[in-house]
Amino acid sequence: MTDGTGLKNRGHTHADVDERREAVEQYSGASLERIAKYCFKAEDAEHNIENMIGATQVPLGFAGPVRISGEYANGDFIVPLATTEGALVASISRGMSVINDSGGARTKVFGDYMTRAPVLRVRDLEHACQVIEWIDAHEDEIKAAVSGTTSHGRLARIEKFPTGRNLYLRFSFETGDAMGMNMATIASEAACKVIEEATDAVMVSVSGNMCSDKKPAAINMIEGRGKTVVAEALIPRETVEKRLHTSAELVVETNIRKNFIGSSMAGTLGANAHAANMVAAFYIATGQDPAQVVGGSMTLTDCEDVDGDLYISVRMPAVELGTVGGGTSLPCQAEALSIMGCKGSGKARKLAEILAATVLAGELSTLAAQAAGQLGKAHAELGRGKK
Ligand code: NAP
Repeated sequence: MTDGTGLKNRGHTHADVDERREAVEQYSGASLERIAKYCFKAEDAEHNIENMIGATQVPLGFAGPVRISGEYANGDFIVPLATTEGALVASISRGMSVINDSGGARTKVFGDYMTRAPVLRVRDLEHACQVIEWIDAHEDEIKAAVSGTTSHGRLARIEKFPTGRNLYLRFSFETGDAMGMNMATIASEAACKVIEEATDAVMVSVSGNMCSDKKPAAINMIEGRGKTVVAEALIPRETVEKRLHTSAELVVETNIRKNFIGSSMAGTLGANAHAANMVAAFYIATGQDPAQVVGGSMTLTDCEDVDGDLYISVRMPAVELGTVGGGTSLPCQAEALSIMGCKGSGKARKLAEILAATVLAGELSTLAAQAAGQLGKAHAELGRGKK
Protein backbone atom coordinates (compact mmCIF):
# COMPACT_ATOMS: atom_id res chain seq x y z
CA MET A 1 0.00 0.00 0.00
CA THR A 2 1.31 3.48 -0.81
CA ASP A 3 0.32 6.97 0.25
CA GLY A 4 -0.02 10.08 -1.93
CA THR A 5 3.76 10.49 -2.22
CA GLY A 6 4.17 6.95 -3.50
CA LEU A 7 5.90 5.88 -0.28
CA LYS A 8 5.19 2.38 0.97
CA ASN A 9 3.49 2.69 4.35
CA ARG A 10 2.81 -0.91 5.35
CA GLY A 11 5.24 -3.61 6.39
CA HIS A 12 7.43 -3.70 9.42
CA THR A 13 10.58 -5.60 8.51
CA HIS A 14 13.96 -3.83 8.53
CA ALA A 15 13.86 -3.99 4.75
CA ASP A 16 10.47 -2.23 4.66
CA VAL A 17 11.77 0.46 6.99
CA ASP A 18 14.96 0.92 4.92
CA GLU A 19 13.00 1.16 1.70
CA ARG A 20 10.62 3.71 3.17
CA ARG A 21 13.45 5.78 4.69
CA GLU A 22 15.37 5.82 1.40
CA ALA A 23 12.22 7.06 -0.31
CA VAL A 24 11.92 9.84 2.29
CA GLU A 25 15.60 10.74 1.72
CA GLN A 26 14.99 10.98 -2.00
CA TYR A 27 11.78 12.93 -1.57
CA SER A 28 13.21 15.41 0.94
CA GLY A 29 16.88 15.53 -0.01
CA ALA A 30 17.75 15.04 3.70
CA SER A 31 20.34 12.50 4.84
CA LEU A 32 18.83 10.18 7.50
CA GLU A 33 22.02 8.33 8.41
CA ARG A 34 21.39 8.50 12.18
CA ILE A 35 17.65 7.89 12.10
CA ALA A 36 18.61 4.68 10.25
CA LYS A 37 20.53 3.33 13.26
CA TYR A 38 18.40 1.76 15.95
CA CYS A 39 18.93 -1.18 18.25
CA PHE A 40 15.58 -2.98 18.20
CA LYS A 41 13.77 -5.09 15.64
CA ALA A 42 11.49 -3.04 13.42
CA GLU A 43 8.80 -5.66 14.04
CA ASP A 44 8.90 -4.82 17.77
CA ALA A 45 7.30 -1.47 16.99
CA GLU A 46 4.62 -2.82 14.68
CA HIS A 47 1.78 -1.77 17.01
CA ASN A 48 3.38 1.55 17.96
CA ILE A 49 4.02 3.38 14.69
CA GLU A 50 3.00 3.51 11.05
CA ASN A 51 5.23 4.62 8.16
CA MET A 52 8.28 3.72 10.28
CA ILE A 53 11.55 5.08 8.86
CA GLY A 54 13.87 4.55 11.86
CA ALA A 55 14.06 5.82 15.40
CA THR A 56 14.88 9.02 17.25
CA GLN A 57 17.10 8.74 20.28
CA VAL A 58 16.50 10.90 23.33
CA PRO A 59 19.31 11.09 25.90
CA LEU A 60 18.55 8.93 28.92
CA GLY A 61 19.88 9.67 32.39
CA PHE A 62 19.04 8.54 35.88
CA ALA A 63 18.05 10.34 39.02
CA GLY A 64 18.36 8.90 42.48
CA PRO A 65 18.27 6.56 44.11
CA VAL A 66 15.23 7.82 45.97
CA ARG A 67 13.96 6.15 49.12
CA ILE A 68 10.23 5.43 49.07
CA SER A 69 7.88 4.02 51.68
CA GLY A 70 4.72 3.43 49.73
CA GLU A 71 1.95 0.93 49.53
CA TYR A 72 3.40 -0.57 46.32
CA ALA A 73 6.89 0.95 46.04
CA ASN A 74 9.16 0.21 48.97
CA GLY A 75 12.92 0.67 48.93
CA ASP A 76 15.50 2.69 47.03
CA PHE A 77 14.90 3.30 43.34
CA ILE A 78 17.04 4.64 40.51
CA VAL A 79 14.72 6.47 38.11
CA PRO A 80 15.40 6.56 34.34
CA LEU A 81 14.57 9.90 32.72
CA ALA A 82 14.69 10.80 29.01
CA THR A 83 15.06 14.50 28.32
CA THR A 84 16.91 17.16 26.38
CA GLU A 85 16.57 19.74 29.16
CA GLY A 86 19.95 20.22 30.79
CA ALA A 87 19.85 20.68 34.59
CA LEU A 88 16.59 18.72 34.96
CA VAL A 89 18.09 15.38 36.01
CA ALA A 90 20.63 17.10 38.29
CA SER A 91 17.84 19.04 39.98
CA ILE A 92 15.65 15.97 40.51
CA SER A 93 18.66 14.06 41.88
CA ARG A 94 19.35 16.89 44.32
CA GLY A 95 15.74 16.75 45.50
CA MET A 96 15.95 12.98 45.92
CA SER A 97 19.15 13.20 47.92
CA VAL A 98 17.56 15.75 50.26
CA ILE A 99 14.45 13.56 50.60
CA ASN A 100 16.66 10.54 51.43
CA ASP A 101 18.47 12.55 54.11
CA SER A 102 15.05 13.32 55.56
CA GLY A 103 13.93 9.70 55.83
CA GLY A 104 12.50 9.27 52.32
CA ALA A 105 9.20 9.93 50.58
CA ARG A 106 5.88 8.41 51.55
CA THR A 107 3.48 7.60 48.71
CA LYS A 108 -0.05 6.32 48.31
CA VAL A 109 -2.37 5.54 45.38
CA PHE A 110 -5.88 6.81 46.19
CA GLY A 111 -7.76 5.94 43.01
CA ASP A 112 -7.19 3.83 39.91
CA TYR A 113 -9.78 4.15 37.14
CA MET A 114 -9.33 4.87 33.46
CA THR A 115 -12.27 6.76 31.98
CA ARG A 116 -13.92 6.96 28.59
CA ALA A 117 -16.98 9.16 28.06
CA PRO A 118 -19.02 8.54 24.91
CA VAL A 119 -21.61 11.11 23.86
CA LEU A 120 -25.03 9.78 22.88
CA ARG A 121 -27.61 11.72 20.87
CA VAL A 122 -31.03 11.59 22.53
CA ARG A 123 -34.38 12.99 21.29
CA ASP A 124 -35.18 15.21 24.26
CA LEU A 125 -35.02 15.40 28.04
CA GLU A 126 -37.63 12.69 28.48
CA HIS A 127 -35.63 10.34 26.27
CA ALA A 128 -32.44 11.19 28.21
CA CYS A 129 -34.23 10.18 31.43
CA GLN A 130 -35.46 6.94 29.86
CA VAL A 131 -31.94 6.05 28.71
CA ILE A 132 -30.54 6.77 32.17
CA GLU A 133 -33.25 4.62 33.77
CA TRP A 134 -32.51 1.79 31.37
CA ILE A 135 -28.78 1.98 32.10
CA ASP A 136 -29.41 1.93 35.86
CA ALA A 137 -31.63 -1.14 35.51
CA HIS A 138 -29.27 -3.02 33.19
CA GLU A 139 -25.79 -2.43 34.57
CA ASP A 140 -25.07 -6.16 34.70
CA GLU A 141 -25.88 -6.51 31.01
CA ILE A 142 -23.56 -3.59 30.16
CA LYS A 143 -20.79 -5.03 32.34
CA ALA A 144 -21.16 -8.39 30.59
CA ALA A 145 -20.69 -6.68 27.21
CA VAL A 146 -17.50 -5.07 28.55
CA SER A 147 -16.20 -8.39 29.89
CA GLY A 148 -16.53 -9.83 26.39
CA THR A 149 -13.84 -7.40 25.16
CA THR A 150 -11.13 -7.73 27.83
CA SER A 151 -9.97 -10.17 30.45
CA HIS A 152 -8.13 -7.59 32.59
CA GLY A 153 -10.58 -4.70 32.32
CA ARG A 154 -13.69 -4.27 34.47
CA LEU A 155 -16.38 -1.61 34.29
CA ALA A 156 -16.59 -0.08 37.77
CA ARG A 157 -19.16 2.72 37.32
CA ILE A 158 -21.11 4.81 34.84
CA GLU A 159 -21.77 8.49 35.52
CA LYS A 160 -24.43 10.25 33.49
CA PHE A 161 -24.30 13.89 32.40
CA PRO A 162 -27.36 14.91 30.32
CA THR A 163 -27.52 18.29 28.58
CA GLY A 164 -29.81 19.32 25.73
CA ARG A 165 -30.11 16.43 23.29
CA ASN A 166 -26.84 14.94 24.53
CA LEU A 167 -26.14 12.30 27.12
CA TYR A 168 -22.53 11.93 28.22
CA LEU A 169 -21.71 8.62 29.91
CA ARG A 170 -18.46 8.67 31.85
CA PHE A 171 -17.36 5.04 32.14
CA SER A 172 -14.71 4.25 34.77
CA PHE A 173 -12.73 1.07 34.24
CA GLU A 174 -10.26 -0.90 36.28
CA THR A 175 -7.56 -1.70 33.71
CA GLY A 176 -5.09 -3.86 35.63
CA ASP A 177 -1.53 -2.89 34.78
CA ALA A 178 -2.34 -1.31 31.42
CA MET A 179 -2.80 2.44 31.10
CA GLY A 180 -6.02 1.26 29.54
CA MET A 181 -7.03 3.71 26.85
CA ASN A 182 -7.34 1.16 24.05
CA MET A 183 -8.96 -1.25 26.47
CA ALA A 184 -11.46 1.36 27.72
CA THR A 185 -12.26 2.57 24.21
CA ILE A 186 -12.99 -0.90 22.86
CA ALA A 187 -15.02 -1.73 25.98
CA SER A 188 -16.98 1.55 25.78
CA GLU A 189 -17.97 0.83 22.19
CA ALA A 190 -19.28 -2.58 23.24
CA ALA A 191 -21.19 -1.05 26.17
CA CYS A 192 -22.73 1.64 23.96
CA LYS A 193 -23.83 -0.93 21.38
CA VAL A 194 -25.97 -2.62 24.04
CA ILE A 195 -27.40 0.74 25.16
CA GLU A 196 -28.11 1.90 21.60
CA GLU A 197 -29.93 -1.32 20.73
CA ALA A 198 -32.17 -1.10 23.79
CA THR A 199 -32.89 2.64 23.91
CA ASP A 200 -32.64 4.18 20.41
CA ALA A 201 -29.99 6.59 21.69
CA VAL A 202 -27.21 7.03 19.12
CA MET A 203 -23.54 7.06 20.01
CA VAL A 204 -22.12 10.05 18.13
CA SER A 205 -18.56 9.64 19.43
CA VAL A 206 -16.99 7.06 21.70
CA SER A 207 -15.02 9.96 23.13
CA GLY A 208 -17.32 12.83 24.01
CA ASN A 209 -14.43 14.69 25.70
CA MET A 210 -15.78 14.30 29.22
CA CYS A 211 -13.23 11.48 29.50
CA SER A 212 -11.05 13.78 29.29
CA ASP A 213 -8.04 12.39 27.47
CA LYS A 214 -5.03 14.58 26.66
CA LYS A 215 -6.78 17.82 27.57
CA PRO A 216 -6.41 19.59 30.91
CA ALA A 217 -9.81 19.12 32.59
CA ALA A 218 -11.33 19.97 35.94
CA ILE A 219 -13.26 16.70 35.99
CA ASN A 220 -9.99 14.76 36.02
CA MET A 221 -8.60 16.97 38.77
CA ILE A 222 -11.64 16.38 40.95
CA GLU A 223 -12.59 12.78 40.15
CA GLY A 224 -9.17 11.52 39.08
CA ARG A 225 -8.19 9.69 35.91
CA GLY A 226 -5.82 6.77 35.75
CA LYS A 227 -4.07 6.74 39.08
CA THR A 228 -4.53 9.43 41.72
CA VAL A 229 -1.31 9.48 43.71
CA VAL A 230 0.00 11.54 46.61
CA ALA A 231 3.62 11.77 47.80
CA GLU A 232 4.96 13.63 50.84
CA ALA A 233 8.16 14.27 52.78
CA LEU A 234 9.18 16.25 55.85
CA ILE A 235 12.55 17.98 55.46
CA PRO A 236 14.17 18.94 58.79
CA ARG A 237 15.12 22.61 59.27
CA GLU A 238 18.89 21.86 59.28
CA THR A 239 18.62 19.93 56.01
CA VAL A 240 16.66 22.75 54.37
CA GLU A 241 19.35 25.21 55.49
CA LYS A 242 22.47 23.12 54.77
CA ARG A 243 21.42 21.30 51.62
CA LEU A 244 18.97 23.71 50.01
CA HIS A 245 20.44 27.00 51.33
CA THR A 246 17.04 28.39 52.25
CA SER A 247 14.37 28.05 54.94
CA ALA A 248 10.95 26.39 55.22
CA GLU A 249 9.43 29.85 55.59
CA LEU A 250 10.87 31.06 52.28
CA VAL A 251 9.94 27.88 50.40
CA VAL A 252 6.37 28.13 51.73
CA GLU A 253 6.18 31.78 50.69
CA THR A 254 7.49 30.91 47.23
CA ASN A 255 4.94 28.12 46.94
CA ILE A 256 2.03 30.38 47.96
CA ARG A 257 2.98 33.36 45.80
CA LYS A 258 4.07 31.30 42.79
CA ASN A 259 2.14 28.02 42.76
CA PHE A 260 -1.08 29.11 44.44
CA ILE A 261 -1.59 32.82 43.70
CA GLY A 262 0.39 32.96 40.44
CA SER A 263 -1.34 29.85 39.12
CA SER A 264 -4.80 31.16 39.99
CA MET A 265 -3.93 34.52 38.39
CA ALA A 266 -2.98 32.63 35.24
CA GLY A 267 -5.94 30.24 35.46
CA THR A 268 -3.85 27.07 35.30
CA LEU A 269 -5.38 23.71 36.16
CA GLY A 270 -3.06 22.41 38.83
CA ALA A 271 -0.60 24.45 40.85
CA ASN A 272 3.00 23.33 40.65
CA ALA A 273 6.48 24.47 39.68
CA HIS A 274 7.22 22.08 36.81
CA ALA A 275 5.58 18.70 37.42
CA ALA A 276 5.22 18.17 33.65
CA ASN A 277 9.03 18.12 33.37
CA MET A 278 9.36 15.04 35.55
CA VAL A 279 6.31 13.37 34.04
CA ALA A 280 7.49 13.92 30.45
CA ALA A 281 11.01 12.59 31.07
CA PHE A 282 9.61 9.60 32.99
CA TYR A 283 6.94 8.83 30.37
CA ILE A 284 9.36 9.02 27.43
CA ALA A 285 11.86 6.77 29.23
CA THR A 286 9.29 4.13 30.15
CA GLY A 287 7.12 3.91 27.03
CA GLN A 288 4.08 5.81 28.26
CA ASP A 289 1.95 7.97 25.96
CA PRO A 290 3.75 11.35 26.09
CA ALA A 291 0.53 13.24 25.29
CA GLN A 292 -0.73 12.21 28.72
CA VAL A 293 1.83 14.49 30.34
CA VAL A 294 -1.20 16.82 30.30
CA GLY A 295 -2.68 14.79 33.18
CA GLY A 296 0.56 15.05 35.13
CA SER A 297 0.68 18.81 34.59
CA MET A 298 -2.39 19.16 36.85
CA THR A 299 -0.35 18.30 39.95
CA LEU A 300 -0.96 20.28 43.14
CA THR A 301 2.18 21.04 45.17
CA ASP A 302 1.64 21.94 48.81
CA CYS A 303 4.21 23.18 51.34
CA GLU A 304 3.92 23.94 55.04
CA ASP A 305 6.31 25.30 57.61
CA VAL A 306 6.10 22.84 60.54
CA ASP A 307 8.05 24.54 63.33
CA GLY A 308 10.88 25.33 60.93
CA ASP A 309 10.79 21.96 59.15
CA LEU A 310 9.50 21.88 55.58
CA TYR A 311 6.52 19.65 54.81
CA ILE A 312 6.04 19.16 51.07
CA SER A 313 3.51 17.09 49.15
CA VAL A 314 2.33 16.55 45.59
CA ARG A 315 -1.14 15.39 44.64
CA MET A 316 -1.26 13.95 41.14
CA PRO A 317 -4.90 13.43 40.19
CA ALA A 318 -4.37 11.97 36.72
CA VAL A 319 -1.39 9.66 36.34
CA GLU A 320 -2.18 7.75 33.16
CA LEU A 321 0.47 5.05 32.92
CA GLY A 322 0.97 1.30 32.64
CA THR A 323 3.57 -1.42 32.87
CA VAL A 324 2.04 -3.53 30.10
CA GLY A 325 0.67 -2.43 26.72
CA GLY A 326 1.30 0.75 24.75
CA GLY A 327 5.01 1.45 24.36
CA THR A 328 6.08 -0.37 27.53
CA SER A 329 7.26 -3.52 25.75
CA LEU A 330 9.53 -1.70 23.29
CA PRO A 331 13.03 -2.99 24.12
CA CYS A 332 14.63 0.24 25.43
CA GLN A 333 11.53 1.26 27.34
CA ALA A 334 11.16 -2.23 28.86
CA GLU A 335 14.80 -2.07 30.01
CA ALA A 336 14.11 1.31 31.62
CA LEU A 337 11.11 -0.16 33.45
CA SER A 338 13.27 -3.06 34.65
CA ILE A 339 15.69 -0.61 36.35
CA MET A 340 12.86 0.09 38.79
CA GLY A 341 11.58 -3.50 38.91
CA CYS A 342 8.45 -2.32 37.14
CA LYS A 343 8.27 -4.41 33.99
CA GLY A 344 5.07 -6.35 33.31
CA SER A 345 2.07 -7.42 35.33
CA GLY A 346 1.47 -6.35 38.92
CA LYS A 347 3.68 -3.24 38.76
CA ALA A 348 1.59 -0.29 37.57
CA ARG A 349 0.75 1.17 40.97
CA LYS A 350 4.37 0.76 42.05
CA LEU A 351 5.43 2.72 38.97
CA ALA A 352 2.88 5.44 39.76
CA GLU A 353 4.27 5.79 43.30
CA ILE A 354 7.83 6.04 41.98
CA LEU A 355 6.69 8.77 39.58
CA ALA A 356 5.02 10.68 42.42
CA ALA A 357 8.23 10.54 44.49
CA THR A 358 10.17 11.76 41.44
CA VAL A 359 7.79 14.67 40.95
CA LEU A 360 8.06 15.46 44.66
CA ALA A 361 11.86 15.61 44.37
CA GLY A 362 11.73 17.85 41.29
CA GLU A 363 9.24 20.19 42.92
CA LEU A 364 11.29 20.39 46.12
CA SER A 365 14.52 21.16 44.30
CA THR A 366 13.07 23.80 41.99
CA LEU A 367 10.99 25.56 44.63
CA ALA A 368 13.99 25.65 46.97
CA ALA A 369 16.23 26.95 44.17
CA GLN A 370 13.76 29.75 43.50
CA ALA A 371 13.40 30.51 47.21
CA ALA A 372 17.21 30.74 47.39
CA GLY A 373 17.42 32.74 44.16
CA GLN A 374 19.52 30.05 42.45
CA LEU A 375 17.41 28.88 39.53
CA GLY A 376 18.97 31.06 36.83
CA LYS A 377 22.48 30.20 37.99
CA ALA A 378 21.86 26.43 37.82
CA HIS A 379 20.44 26.68 34.32
CA ALA A 380 23.26 28.94 33.16
CA GLU A 381 25.83 26.43 34.43
CA LEU A 382 24.16 23.17 33.40
CA GLY A 383 21.49 23.83 30.85
CA ARG A 384 22.73 26.30 28.20
CA GLY A 385 22.82 24.67 24.78
CA LYS A 386 25.76 24.94 22.40
CA LYS A 387 25.64 28.16 20.43
P1 NAP B 1 -2.99 -2.09 24.94
O1 NAP B 1 -1.60 -2.50 24.56
O2 NAP B 1 -3.91 -1.70 23.86
O3 NAP B 1 -3.73 -3.21 25.76
C1 NAP B 1 -3.19 -3.82 26.88
C2 NAP B 1 -3.18 -5.32 26.63
O4 NAP B 1 -2.46 -5.98 27.65
C3 NAP B 1 -4.56 -5.92 26.59
O5 NAP B 1 -4.62 -6.72 25.46
C4 NAP B 1 -4.63 -6.76 27.86
O6 NAP B 1 -5.39 -7.91 27.66
C5 NAP B 1 -3.19 -7.13 28.03
N1 NAP B 1 -2.73 -7.43 29.40
C6 NAP B 1 -1.88 -8.42 29.72
N2 NAP B 1 -1.60 -8.39 31.03
C7 NAP B 1 -2.28 -7.37 31.56
C8 NAP B 1 -2.36 -6.82 32.86
N3 NAP B 1 -1.71 -7.35 33.90
N4 NAP B 1 -3.13 -5.76 33.05
C9 NAP B 1 -3.80 -5.20 32.03
N5 NAP B 1 -3.77 -5.68 30.77
C10 NAP B 1 -3.00 -6.76 30.52
O7 NAP B 1 -2.82 -0.96 26.04
P2 NAP B 1 -3.85 0.05 26.67
O8 NAP B 1 -3.23 0.38 27.97
O9 NAP B 1 -5.27 -0.42 26.63
O10 NAP B 1 -3.73 1.28 25.71
C11 NAP B 1 -2.51 1.97 25.64
C12 NAP B 1 -2.33 2.50 24.24
O11 NAP B 1 -3.47 3.29 23.94
C13 NAP B 1 -1.13 3.40 24.11
O12 NAP B 1 -0.41 3.01 22.96
C14 NAP B 1 -1.74 4.77 23.88
O13 NAP B 1 -0.91 5.59 23.13
C15 NAP B 1 -3.03 4.41 23.19
N6 NAP B 1 -4.12 5.38 23.27
C16 NAP B 1 -5.28 4.98 22.71
C17 NAP B 1 -6.37 5.81 22.75
C18 NAP B 1 -7.65 5.35 22.15
O14 NAP B 1 -8.59 6.13 22.10
N7 NAP B 1 -7.76 4.13 21.70
C19 NAP B 1 -6.29 7.05 23.39
C20 NAP B 1 -5.10 7.41 24.02
C21 NAP B 1 -4.01 6.57 23.94
P3 NAP B 1 -6.99 -7.95 27.85
O15 NAP B 1 -7.57 -6.63 27.45
O16 NAP B 1 -7.42 -9.05 26.97
O17 NAP B 1 -7.27 -8.25 29.26
